[in-house]
Amino acid sequence: MPVPSAEYLNNLNPAQREAVERLDGPVLMLAGAGTGKTKALTARITHLLRTHRVRENEILAVTFTNKAAREMKQRVGRMLGRPAEGMPWLGTFHAICVKLLRRHAELVGLKSNFTILDSDDQKRLLKQLTQAANIDDKRWPARMLAGIIDDWKNRALTPDKVPAADAGAYNHKGIELYAQYQTRLRELNAVDFGDLLLHMVTIFQTHPDVLEQYQRWFRYILVDEYQDTNVAQYLWLRLLAGGHKNICCVGDDDQSIYGWRGAEVGNILRFEKDFPGAFVVRLEQNYRSTPHILAAASNVIRGNESRLGKELWTDREEGEKVRLIGHWDGEEEARWIGEEIDAMQGSTRGVRPMNLDEMAILVRASHQMRAFEDRFLTIGLPYKVIGGPRFYERMEIRDAMAYFRLVVSPEDDLAFERIVNTPKRGLGDKAQQTIQVVARENGVSLVEGARIAVENGLIKGKGGKALRELIDGLARWNAMTRGPRIEVDDDSVIDDGASPIRYGAPEHTHIELAQIVLDESGYTAHWQNEKTPEAPGRLENLKELVNQLDNFENLQGFLEHVSLVMDNEQDSDGAKVSIMTLHAAKGLEFPAVFLPGWEDGLFPSQRSMDESGLKGLEEERRLAYVGITRAEEVCTISFAANRRVFGQWQNSMPSRFIDELPEDHVEVLTPPGLYGGGQTTTGIETRAAEANVYNSPGWKRMQARQGQYGMSQPKESRNTVIDATAVASFTLGERVFHQKFGYGAVIGIEGDKVEVDFDKAGTKKVVSRFLTAKDD
Ligand code: ATP
Ligand code: MG
Repeated sequence: MPVPSAEYLNNLNPAQREAVERLDGPVLMLAGAGTGKTKALTARITHLLRTHRVRENEILAVTFTNKAAREMKQRVGRMLGRPAEGMPWLGTFHAICVKLLRRHAELVGLKSNFTILDSDDQKRLLKQLTQAANIDDKRWPARMLAGIIDDWKNRALTPDKVPAADAGAYNHKGIELYAQYQTRLRELNAVDFGDLLLHMVTIFQTHPDVLEQYQRWFRYILVDEYQDTNVAQYLWLRLLAGGHKNICCVGDDDQSIYGWRGAEVGNILRFEKDFPGAFVVRLEQNYRSTPHILAAASNVIRGNESRLGKELWTDREEGEKVRLIGHWDGEEEARWIGEEIDAMQGSTRGVRPMNLDEMAILVRASHQMRAFEDRFLTIGLPYKVIGGPRFYERMEIRDAMAYFRLVVSPEDDLAFERIVNTPKRGLGDKAQQTIQVVARENGVSLVEGARIAVENGLIKGKGGKALRELIDGLARWNAMTRGPRIEVDDDSVIDDGASPIRYGAPEHTHIELAQIVLDESGYTAHWQNEKTPEAPGRLENLKELVNQLDNFENLQGFLEHVSLVMDNEQDSDGAKVSIMTLHAAKGLEFPAVFLPGWEDGLFPSQRSMDESGLKGLEEERRLAYVGITRAEEVCTISFAANRRVFGQWQNSMPSRFIDELPEDHVEVLTPPGLYGGGQTTTGIETRAAEANVYNSPGWKRMQARQGQYGMSQPKESRNTVIDATAVASFTLGERVFHQKFGYGAVIGIEGDKVEVDFDKAGTKKVVSRFLTAKDD
């Protein structure tokens, strides 16, 4: 076997190399984004293996996501020159703890085949306990208790350790309920998510022999994204590293974005105290981003008071400035970004041509994704959603769509199967089989079969009652798709050949109807009662779904649209644009990044703005820093003046973070109204106009800032602008000159855009303003 080269060392700068080669003792790499922390951590694993310090299964390496773990494994393989197959302890905290806990379950009163509860089960269990304790479920809902308990677990507090000061909730019974809950979990041989770490910490604390065994086994410990560990994770690491202290943590206090989930940035600041004599490496060279992008990110994060303060530099070439653009509304923003992506792919934008997989759209809230998905489906631009399914593939969206399908066509058996017990109606396998059998025997749809089954007493009790409510509901909602029946005389029927049954206008719009269906079916409440980090996002997605109906005439039209766009070939292996949340983008990098929705109330979030104190706002600012620093070459920030949030048009102000962008490094782009393509008014704009957004104070304030940010105009004024400037005054065949592309001949004119066959740069579409006539 050829000796693999030590290229993985030669590729590092001196500071990184020191962090890699200093294998023994505690090492902390505390450095800003893109400085090569993850790269150094990966090289360190390689180095441990190459120098035969340890076997692959003696390294404990913690990453933030499973995806990051897979990637790290692959990179180590590449550096080693052979696949790194046996690294069982490279993974997330949870993945590693599940494995450990299975081995030692009996030490905390569990069997090794314990089940991991989902949040539904967790809540149901808690509800039983609060009811038994005569606690008012309205005042103290079970989901709230679940949140409190999760928080205690994140802080590594078993019931006996919760401080008395925290006892106030639940009529001073919070701690008692927590203890009962833990007992009950044990009886069920079950754990919840938080238990995975908590139990392991408890085991290590109470069984020194077990702890020692693992201290000896995991001879080297490595942790990426250390700034986002919570107290339980921190204690777990500190216990494991307590013997040999061969622990290497890397992180960036400016990228701590999980405070809302119990992460404590203080962990990273305390490292040197916990591990005296720790070797601290500071990396300052950023290898990822151009100077403009780096300057923009640095300037934004400077606004935070609580930070260590690090300065980054780069020797990358200048590149283009961070681009900033304002749009009329969220739909236009999506349309414009779609066009930009197209232009960048074809290099008509002046930057190097880029592949789709080099571009990413990073959003603050997942409900922002829908506009992009719809737009991209419409124009056939391949995309993928990272860290979650695409909008129409999400569980809650599919559930809701199944309800809508049934309302429109009660024969849709697949839809019925999906929602018959969602939300839970107490209809188990047996009841569902009964429905199937009855339907088959009678040759009718499942809905009909269910009705027969209930009416004949084949499904009784609570389930039967709930099923009847569902069937009645479906019939009622179906009737609501039409207005009252109108009697017509037979002559007219023969005249126009229409159905003899006529209906008046429905009482409710299809948008109202959709909301009624979701509410009356109990589906909305199902998510409102859910206390998981995802639940609020799911509710937002449902609202976004309802919003979207506004673009269609009725439910039927909407369902058709979705089935058509879903049918588009999406699973091809070709390159795709990535869409993901800022949280999911941590640690990743892309040549081109779009950051849409920079508006106060969306980003920073309303919640962080309402909070007293700066904590929430500073976390949002760190998120902005994470977002900008994902970009290597091109970074485009955008905002919209109007956004439909939860079905309501809202005016929004540009994000306060935009004010923090350094002017010298930002280029404000021409509004799309001038750019071409934006001048057509859409139904949405008309509706926005009807909603009187132009007259609102928010819009007026926005206009005051238009000059500053190059806002696009509302349709009235926008048309004027276009009329005045946008008609290209060139003729076909005319010779022209362009600053960037040089000389060429006009071969097409479209509004204010001119297609030019450039002598050197080939054919491009450019805005007429940037051309001058040249008589050669
Ligand atoms: P983040 O804080 O965003 O997680 P990071 O500090 O982990 O960033 P890496 O992802 O490791 O940074 O590296 C950023 C980019 O810089 C990667 O493309 C990496 O390959 C490159 N890079 C890192 N170190 C060097 C180096 N010494 N020479 C050249 N390129 C480097
Ligand atoms: Mg990293």
